[in-house]
Amino acid sequence: MWRCVSRGLRIPSRRSTSGGFLSHRFFSSESNSGRSAYTIVDHTYDAVVVGAGGAGLRAAIGLSEHGFNTACITKLFPTRSHTVAAQGGINAALGNMTEDDWRWHMYDTVKGSDWLGDQDAIQYMCREAPKAVIELENYGLPFSRTEEGKIYQRAFGGQSLDFGKGGQAYRCACAADRTGHALLHTLYGQAMKHNTQFFVEYFALDLIMGSDGSCQGVIALNMEDGTLHRFRASSTILATGGYGRAYFSATSAHTCTGDGNAMVARAGLPLEDLEFVQFHPTGIYGAGCLITEGSRGEGGILRNSEGERFMERYAPTAKDLASRDVVSRSMTMEIREGRGVGPMKDHIYLHLNHLPPEVLKERLPGISETAAIFAGVDVTKQPIPVLPTVHYNMGGIPTNYHGEVVTIKGSDPDAVVPGLMAAGEAACASVHGANRLGANSLLDIVVFGRACANRVAEIHKPGEKQKPLPNDAGEKTIAWLDKIRNSNGSLPTSKIRLNMQRIMQNNAAVFRTQETLEEGCSLIDKAWESYHDVKLEDRSLIWNSDLLETIELENLLINACITMHSAEARKESRGAHAREDFTKRDDENWMKHTMGYWENEKVRLDYRPVHMNTLDDEVETFPPKARVY
Ligand SMILES: Cc1cc2nc3c(=O)[nH]c(=O)nc-3n(C[C@H](O)[C@H](O)[C@H](O)COP(=O)(O)OP(=O)(O)OC[C@H]3O[C@@H](n4cnc5c(N)ncnc54)[C@H](O)[C@@H]3O)c2cc1C
Repeated sequence: MWRCVSRGLRIPSRRSTSGGFLSHRFFSSESNSGRSAYTIVDHTYDAVVVGAGGAGLRAAIGLSEHGFNTACITKLFPTRSHTVAAQGGINAALGNMTEDDWRWHMYDTVKGSDWLGDQDAIQYMCREAPKAVIELENYGLPFSRTEEGKIYQRAFGGQSLDFGKGGQAYRCACAADRTGHALLHTLYGQAMKHNTQFFVEYFALDLIMGSDGSCQGVIALNMEDGTLHRFRASSTILATGGYGRAYFSATSAHTCTGDGNAMVARAGLPLEDLEFVQFHPTGIYGAGCLITEGSRGEGGILRNSEGERFMERYAPTAKDLASRDVVSRSMTMEIREGRGVGPMKDHIYLHLNHLPPEVLKERLPGISETAAIFAGVDVTKQPIPVLPTVHYNMGGIPTNYHGEVVTIKGSDPDAVVPGLMAAGEAACASVHGANRLGANSLLDIVVFGRACANRVAEIHKPGEKQKPLPNDAGEKTIAWLDKIRNSNGSLPTSKIRLNMQRIMQNNAAVFRTQETLEEGCSLIDKAWESYHDVKLEDRSLIWNSDLLETIELENLLINACITMHSAEARKESRGAHAREDFTKRDDENWMKHTMGYWENEKVRLDYRPVHMNTLDDEVETFPPKARVY
């Protein structure tokens, strides 16, 4: 089907200084539009990072610091990555407000995860946290300050002192309510200091896998001119973010389409724990934009139509600062029982109007503005209408605490996939288990971005010789791309996408039952089938957003199918997965990670054990117990 017509042709590139590319042309002889030519450009790097959000940038900085010739491929300009939207902050036991200890942070994270998190990885993250935040400070991140000039730390959900016995912890470092913005721009500035080669507005399509099961790089599409680029590398690090856009109402950017996850699934590797989708309690009703948990950390409270502070009933100790799954469920119960606010009684009020205007101005300027624009509310006088909204994917590409991707191989549930790593929201380390605590993701992205770079430095040397790419590297991907580009069915991409988003919103919601999930499986499988009937209007290769959105739709659908089937299979309630027919956590049968495979366009499920061990004797394992706030 493919013919290579020229080899060894050197073409200049505007974006790269490393030069020395090989360019080939491939023809598709079967496309509907006649013969289409694809220009292929080959690159070789020590390491290639896919994604330039917080995780990708931190990995790239570390790799360059270690002397690796590194490429960073990103479909967005780096500072447009979703990390920029993070508001509330980043957790670390710095102890700036009260005494603190990383072990207390670890306990909270294990409890927050509802004992599905891997305790070795959680220990690693919480112990590294203070160093990671100080490193960011040294990089120049403009943190909010206390009177004495220390990094200010606010209260955040699920954070306690003294293993849950010492009351609310103040552990969340922030830059007002624009922490992600400050963090991403700081990291981008640092990345510019190093030699990382950026390939901006390049869309990664697939992994290039060797016949021995190792990863040898990625193939990407230059969105601007339609050329295809094969990046050969000893280490490939996926940092492509989450897939919130599989849902109708999400706080995540439209670009959060789980591309890296889908690339892994298409390579025959599993995705872990996708059934755990976090709903943030306070998305603005209708618009879906986020109002940070930091607003409750600063003293904001939720009230129902009777003016009652109902969280006192559901979580007597932590109240409005119970963890997100607990607050989202409580709000949903209030609405169901007829105590919702508004003409349809279908949402809840978040009150900040009792807080001093100076606090709002200094600590929460961003959300004050967001509430004015998207809800028409003056937060100093009126409550904000809010509703639980999809916010974060706890599941993703399974990794160990070094960031190496793992899979089940024979009797080994933690077999490393050579050459492949993942970090950030795309990955599942698994530090968040069944429910992520607020302000633990900005931490996760910098800690594990850095861990990936360190691991590469442990096992590789800069400039190491690499195996040649397989002869047919990328051919299947080009055939797939060509097929999508020439799709001539009857359904526009937007229609299939909306259908998928509605199914996910209705059937894999805050509360789930066998009935809704079984129906969800059948509906989402049909949505996948309908994708075979997609129609593209634009067949060009120059900035073809129709094509890119369709690839993103396919990626979302793969994530959505695995999410729904994983959820249907899990017959218990744990963290964000709340079943009305199996209301209890069932450690005996279900304290295990789901591994969802995408095989012949169908979902297959397997399981691997949770790591209950710690890394060393600096801390003991936290055995499972009931999770109350
Ligand atoms: C509104 C909002 C507020 C939040 N607030 C907080 C908070 O206060 N504290 C906290 O801890 N967490 C917060 N989170 C969660 C946290 O911000 C994210 O989980 C985290 O920033 C994800 O970072 P990342 O680097 O993994 O991915 P992202 O920042 O999403 O970056 C993904 C990168 O991958 C690239 N990419 C994706 N697909 C491709 C492809 N096919 N080819 C090439 N490149 C690709 C993109 O260009 C982008 O550069 C918030 C999330 C949201 C949505």
